[in-house]
Amino acid sequence: MLLRATAEISFNSIVITDKQHNIVYANPAFCRMTGYSLDELRGQNPRILQGPLTDPQVIEKLRHGLEDRGFFSGSTINYRKNGKPYLLEWTITEISDDADEPRFFLSVQKDITQLDAEQTTGNLFAKAIDAAYDGIFITDAEGLIEFANQGFEIITGYTPAEVIGHTPSILKSGKHDEAFYERLWRYLHEGLPFRAMVINRHKDGREIHCQQTITAVKRANGTISHYVSIIKDMTDRVFDELKLREQASHDAMTGLLNRRGGELELEVSLIQCEETSSTYCIVMADIDNFKAVNDTYGHPRGDEIIKAVADILIENTRKSDKCIRWGGEEFIVLLPFCDMDRATRIAENIRTDLAAMTFEEIGGVTLSLGVTDYTSDDTPKTILERVDHLLYQSKRTGKNRVSSEQIA
Ligand code: GH3
Ligand code: MG
Ligand code: MG
Repeated sequence: MLLRATAEISFNSIVITDKQHNIVYANPAFCRMTGYSLDELRGQNPRILQGPLTDPQVIEKLRHGLEDRGFFSGSTINYRKNGKPYLLEWTITEISDDADEPRFFLSVQKDITQLDAEQTTGNLFAKAIDAAYDGIFITDAEGLIEFANQGFEIITGYTPAEVIGHTPSILKSGKHDEAFYERLWRYLHEGLPFRAMVINRHKDGREIHCQQTITAVKRANGTISHYVSIIKDMTDRVFDELKLREQASHDAMTGLLNRRGGELELEVSLIQCEETSSTYCIVMADIDNFKAVNDTYGHPRGDEIIKAVADILIENTRKSDKCIRWGGEEFIVLLPFCDMDRATRIAENIRTDLAAMTFEEIGGVTLSLGVTDYTSDDTPKTILERVDHLLYQSKRTGKNRVSSEQIA
């Protein structure tokens, strides 16, 4: 009686057959699962539940299991009364009488269709995650990596096996300060996703610029169980941007700063030399009679000379000095921590270096230059006007010369 009551309320499906395998009892869960009523089932062989997708090998195993051991467990597909298939997991146990003769077979069954679908979906997710181009890795609450996908390997160079059990600090480039990590943990502890451009280090040592999102995964009780990180490799884009910035401030033909980049440099450096009261000089140069060169030998030959002048400027200056292509054939050199003696010497060297060159067919080309130094109330405008004036003084007085002082 008690057993029957238990069977009645069991969530699992229970069916009992006699030794001829005719159903003598089925509990309500079994009726719900199959769609048959108890009356419809009584006296039937459970074979009525089988159909085209029922695995004959499993049924064969069932027969042998019961014959050999009086027990079977397995899974296959069966069919409901309405013809719908369901995935079944079941056990059958032989119930014997005192003479050890089988009297009944007790079968406990479970419809695992839903479970199987979830597992399939789970597999699908796992496959999707692995196929994702972005890197995905999951750490436990202590920060130890539990999972990493193929994208992670492509981006970082580390295989999942190499990082599982380690913390993401193996990716650290050292490019971020304490404040960065404080912000990261503050976000995560507050349950907010943390998004940032993170410079990581690839296994091969190079820096990789990643757009990274870290999200805390919480349990029902609010405590953090995992952190999920998604990294996108933006290195190419970062370099593209640097290239764009470079293009915006540099002259493509000579590689020198362009006028825009030069103006910015001048402005910044004048503020710096005001603050440090250091010496500062500026040289302006313009190619002599350049129009004639262009007119006679053509623009490309003119370009050749412009490039030669740019090379001479670089050769005569330090890395901290700035060489600017100020206009077509006009150049400026900014000389921080430099006095007039040295600046004049540099300007002279530039002039003589170019004058010493011979260009095929064209012959010699010369430069006129002006040199001036920074005085405390200078603005970019005033210092530029002064050096321009000195350059034109060199033009006026015969070209191929350096003017550092204004003559009457
Ligand atoms: P001056 O000695 O007084 O400086 O005479 P100039 O002929 O050099 O001066 P001007 O300003 O009259 O002419 C400058 C010429 O530079 C005009 C232009 O054709 C040429 N020029 C400007 N930019 C470029 C360039 O990128 N390439 C070439 N080949 N020529 C350029
Ligand atoms: Mg000119
Ligand atoms: Mg000129």
